Amino acid sequence: MTIDFHYLRHPMEKKKEIVMSGIRPTGFLHLGNYFGAIRNYVKMQEEFECYFMVADLHSLTTHPDTKELKANVHRVLAENIACGLDPDKVALYCQSHVHETAELYLYLNMLAYKGELEKTTTFKDKVRLNPQNVNAGLLTYPVLMTADIILHRASYVPVGKDQEQHLEMARTFANRFNHRYGEVFPEPQAFNFNQELIKVPSLDGAGKMSKSENQMATLYLADEDEMIRKKVMKAKTDSGPTEPDSPKPDYIENIFLLMKLVSSADVMQKFEADYNNCSIRYGDMKKQLAEDMVQFIAPIRNNVDAILNDEKGLKQIMEQGAEKANKSAHTTMKLVREAIGLKYY
Ligand code: ADP
Repeated sequence: MTIDFHYLRHPMEKKKEIVMSGIRPTGFLHLGNYFGAIRNYVKMQEEFECYFMVADLHSLTTHPDTKELKANVHRVLAENIACGLDPDKVALYCQSHVHETAELYLYLNMLAYKGELEKTTTFKDKVRLNPQNVNAGLLTYPVLMTADIILHRASYVPVGKDQEQHLEMARTFANRFNHRYGEVFPEPQAFNFNQELIKVPSLDGAGKMSKSENQMATLYLADEDEMIRKKVMKAKTDSGPTEPDSPKPDYIENIFLLMKLVSSADVMQKFEADYNNCSIRYGDMKKQLAEDMVQFIAPIRNNVDAILNDEKGLKQIMEQGAEKANKSAHTTMKLVREAIGLKYY
């Protein structure tokens, strides 16, 4: 079923604000993707006009081998749906099914300067990690991301903290376009319901959970119960504080942070109190965290397989999503071409 958001809206009803975000199909989704992004997608789908995409073109910048791409695209779709995203309420689509993204990317590339792109932290990180594949797509990643967002004239972008700098660049490019060619785009803002953007730390205490780095320190939505327990129990701890109310070292703070995401307030309070009076037993804390993680992840994992097995259903979802996304893209691109002056008759 295709929903025409504009048609359904009552003339007196306030226009819904537009939301856009994406996840790369570069592996299994993890707790960082869930708490940084998908949890908000699910909350936002009721009140906003939402465009959520599988960012397959972005994945080509770092993963040129496409053998796994189809399976990964299907998995990202299935995992989003298993987390509660409803393809009838939102546009859930693949980036490569919306060709006008590439056109907008081209125009925006002429408004983005080499110097500012080279300064992007993620670009510098990726160059360090993979010095033999520093392609132009990697450099202009923030430009493509801007195109994805402003193609729908989105105001809000639910993302994790790692995307903050990219959002700042998206605002710069959108403003530059507006300044040069006339107001077409709102300024896109990173969004987390007025809370700080989230960074889910990895279990080894170094950096963030991520699809491809240190898989034993990342909790995936597909992890089996025993694997979850094994990973959590391996998280770094020490012999505990010796002074009451001591500050927490980073790796201990991370365990509390993970607990806050999945455990009850009572459980949190108990371990906070134990920490502050120096009676904490990290073995018990990790056991509790592991069980709460199992409770959280298992129902999502169990939903995914049924969705993945229904290839016909996934195809329909992608088609329905592409139709909604293309409709919005056509409207924007007409405005863009006219604003630039690409209209000769
Ligand atoms: P990854 O870094 O795992 O490849 P993506 O780049 O595809 O993930 O990001 C998809 C979404 O998940 C983005 O909104 C990003 O901010 C969010 N995200 C990824 N890792 C984390 C994390 N550890 N904590 C919070 N949000 C995250």
